[in-house]
Amino acid sequence: MLLRPLIGILTYIIMHHRLTTQLLLASSSSSAASFFAYAFAPTLSIISSGRRLSIMYSSTTTSAATSKLQYIDAGANLLDSMYQGVYHGKERHEPDLDIILARAYENGVDRIISMAGTPKECEETLRLIERLDKEHNSGERVKVFGTVGVHPTRCAEVFAESCPSSSGDEDEETTNWKPKTEAEQTLIISQMIKLINQGKTSGNVVAVGEFGLDYARLHFCPKDIQQLGFRKQLEMAIETKLPLYLHNRDSGDDLYDILLEYRDALVASQGGDEGNIRGIVHSFDESIEVATKLMSLGLHIGINGCSLKTPENLKIVEQIPLDKLILETDCPWCDIRPTHAGFQHLQTTFPTKKEKQYNRELAKDFCVKNRTEPCHVAQVAEVIAGVKGLDVADVVAASNRNVHRVFGDLKKIEV
Ligand SMILES: [Zn+2]
Repeated sequence: MLLRPLIGILTYIIMHHRLTTQLLLASSSSSAASFFAYAFAPTLSIISSGRRLSIMYSSTTTSAATSKLQYIDAGANLLDSMYQGVYHGKERHEPDLDIILARAYENGVDRIISMAGTPKECEETLRLIERLDKEHNSGERVKVFGTVGVHPTRCAEVFAESCPSSSGDEDEETTNWKPKTEAEQTLIISQMIKLINQGKTSGNVVAVGEFGLDYARLHFCPKDIQQLGFRKQLEMAIETKLPLYLHNRDSGDDLYDILLEYRDALVASQGGDEGNIRGIVHSFDESIEVATKLMSLGLHIGINGCSLKTPENLKIVEQIPLDKLILETDCPWCDIRPTHAGFQHLQTTFPTKKEKQYNRELAKDFCVKNRTEPCHVAQVAEVIAGVKGLDVADVVAASNRNVHRVFGDLKKIEV
């Protein structure tokens, strides 16, 4: 009768000893490069559930199966200031993007698509990718790809000019925007096409985006300017023959109607895949009806933590077929919290520190609370697998296949 608890205690001591050894090994060196050698992630998983924190050494079979999974995070915001240690304008810690990318690789993420939202961000993304490719051209590491486009909430600052309120009311807080001239708009698009061509040659630019519509944040950009930017960029996608990286918030019906107008031209430019538009509607959180309409155009649906918050969200994910799902994080946003419906399905959690308490040394053992990273893509896969009653491996394999179908090879760094 006493055997079971005894085995439990013994196992705990062995596990704890191994964990401690790993932590000590990991903390004995400080460089980011040593983080790669940090044998902790592939063999050990720290599993916590709600308030109960149990540290477990994975069985050989589990760790072998988990370590074989190769993830693609199809939606990250690597340029976000949080990876430079800046949160809401306040500097909290040193930049740690290098550590984030190393952790991603350690956890099986070998490819990331990093999104851009303005022409300036597109240039910065391409520069970041070139720098990463140069710095790490010989080692094991994650390969980053980029997109070129204007986010719907940024369309006003790119495609329009602010003008004085016509009401003359000084208390008026909303800005009035008027579209830039046709010539100015053409120039902006032609500059982005230049970037696309440059990025297509190197294989680093894989889609137009993120672009689309966002009716949840009209205070940044009114509907008419969003739609103008959307149409301009659909024309840009047709010209450059690239797949679409679409953003949609509370705007699914308009997104569908406008896409329908361009469908034939898009399909023809992309190679005519049986009437299917190659593209993703990322961070999906609308109804199954909207998802079904968008999938009828051939589009894939991107799922991250923001798509897994409520029981209704989970019901929708359950109904989206596996051959239409793509895993992403939208990091540093969209973490899966204990209060979210998806949380119950997590198998992997990462210990965290608040951003004020975090530093590069602690980064070896901790993520920042509520800041997601590409390594969290495993959690998205786990929730989808839980909801659909499938193996995590099958969800990951399907998502990877779908990513290739939409974005092409995405050649990884060969080790
Ligand atoms: Zn988005």
